[in-house]
Amino acid sequence: MPSSEACKRAVLNAKPSAIKSSFALILYKVLPGQSVKMQARPAAVLVASLHAAFVCIKSSEIILPKSLNLTLLTDPSAISVASHDFGNITTVIPGGVICPSSPVEISRLLTYASNGERKFQVAARGQGHSLMGQAGVPDGVIINMTCLAGVVVSDDMKYADVAGGTLWVDVLKNTAEKGVSPVSWTDYLHVSVGGTLSNAGIGGEVFRNGPQISNVLELDVITGKGEMLACSPQLNSELFYGVLGGLGQFGIITRARIVLNHAPKRAKWFRMLYSDFAAFTKDQERLISMANDTGVDYLEGQLFMSNGVVDTSFFPQSDQSKIADLVKSHGIIYVLEVAKFYDDPTLPIIGQVVDMLNKTLSYLPGFISMHDVAYFDFLNRVKAEEDKLRSLGLWEVPHPWLNLYVPKSQILNFHNGVVKDILLKQNSTSGLTLLYPSNRNKWDNRMSAMVTDEEDVVYIIGILQSATPQNVQEVESLNDSIIRVCKDSGIKIKQYLMHYTRKEDWVEHFGTKWSDFSKRKDLFDPKKLLSPGQDIF
Ligand code: FAD
Repeated sequence: MPSSEACKRAVLNAKPSAIKSSFALILYKVLPGQSVKMQARPAAVLVASLHAAFVCIKSSEIILPKSLNLTLLTDPSAISVASHDFGNITTVIPGGVICPSSPVEISRLLTYASNGERKFQVAARGQGHSLMGQAGVPDGVIINMTCLAGVVVSDDMKYADVAGGTLWVDVLKNTAEKGVSPVSWTDYLHVSVGGTLSNAGIGGEVFRNGPQISNVLELDVITGKGEMLACSPQLNSELFYGVLGGLGQFGIITRARIVLNHAPKRAKWFRMLYSDFAAFTKDQERLISMANDTGVDYLEGQLFMSNGVVDTSFFPQSDQSKIADLVKSHGIIYVLEVAKFYDDPTLPIIGQVVDMLNKTLSYLPGFISMHDVAYFDFLNRVKAEEDKLRSLGLWEVPHPWLNLYVPKSQILNFHNGVVKDILLKQNSTSGLTLLYPSNRNKWDNRMSAMVTDEEDVVYIIGILQSATPQNVQEVESLNDSIIRVCKDSGIKIKQYLMHYTRKEDWVEHFGTKWSDFSKRKDLFDPKKLLSPGQDIF
């Protein structure tokens, strides 16, 4: 545990939303082992919360034996950073933070922590871009994985060995300068390799190349017992498949061997508008079924809704007011987004693909826009959005995001029951709604990651709302009602980046994989030290 003085200062120096969160610390103490959601509270309650927080934080500190030769950071700023995440909804205060200089240091820490009686829990933290405290550890030790970063490209350029805390944007920079590149990307690249491989790592290339977890050849992992193990489909395969999508439960990834391919130089990046949902999804599904050379390399989709912010900036100035009118009159306009990557030699093929898009898709005539951008800029496109939101003070706000997989046969029901009947009926929505299909056969069922099982095509849905401390609970209730509607109407969803607090929800989430998942926990982390912020064990 941090000293009460350190925490006191951490709380006092924290930003307003975090101070509100201090109320939850008390609740946390009352209900050990549970994550606590924060709500906005009147000022008087906040002051009371602060006092109570001081009281609750008085407890023993983590003392590491000198022989471990590890420095535990307990200063307020280290504690404060490690207590929060991108979701901005929870506060989980660790006892200290370690910045390892090598994987051996993590192994030493875990060997000590797991020896004899459990001493404290441990969570690897990449960028803390989790939504509900999944990278947090109450009173335990955070391993700041950004201290372990680096990329080594193999001589034959077929793979890169990447340290667990490396950001994907740095993997891209280091590989692209050699003319090679990973093949599957998240929309946002400022997330860590270990963090996305613990979830799945999904985006617009999944339909063709699979999620990021499907593009890993081997891993170095430190288990909850402190063992340092290399694993792959051939070696320690139980650990390999467990860790991929394993929510940090079985070990800490210190190295991942990532598949590389040729790095194209540029991307032709298109957006097309549809007013008809059936036409939109039909075109999406056709495009993801096409072969590499004749088809697109990236495909996603998003919704423009009349009760939300409609960003038409991708389209020519002359079309922007027409698009706003379309959204007003139709309620929802569906945006198909695709990209085709190319170099000078492949440029002629691009002409054919553009021709195919123009001639065979059923978008609203005239409503197609194309940007020709560098491959790096295309992949790193969300950084510009981050910079914009940061400059407006809108990045560090609560993010009650809901990510779902929906089977293809139920996407129309989902559209009618959720998008039209729930989202569109709100007075307003903030943020982005993504909706695009992917091919289920690009996932490997032996891995821990869950996706709906039943059909060849699965839709990836991101209802990525931003909130304020005042309305975050309202948005969370909306998310709950979306899940309820899906359940009641038999839409077989699976959540992604989910956070359950009840064991039965986890058992239901993993379904037939639950037994293997819990057996692997007993095998690799019997003291249940790792990533307790996921609230599974
Ligand atoms: P953290 O939040 O730090 O950690 C996540 C979990 O993994 C925690 O349980 C943690 O303990 C564990 N962990 C972290 N590092 C390791 C490690 N080395 N070994 C073992 N366990 C570890 N995701 C997508 O799939 N597709 C997207 O398009 C996408 N877009 C995003 C856009 C934005 C703006 C943001 C903020 C997030 C987005 N994400 C997306 C989510 C992102 O993939 C997750 O937040 C993921 O957890 C990676 O973030 P991180 O590296 O900060 O991990």
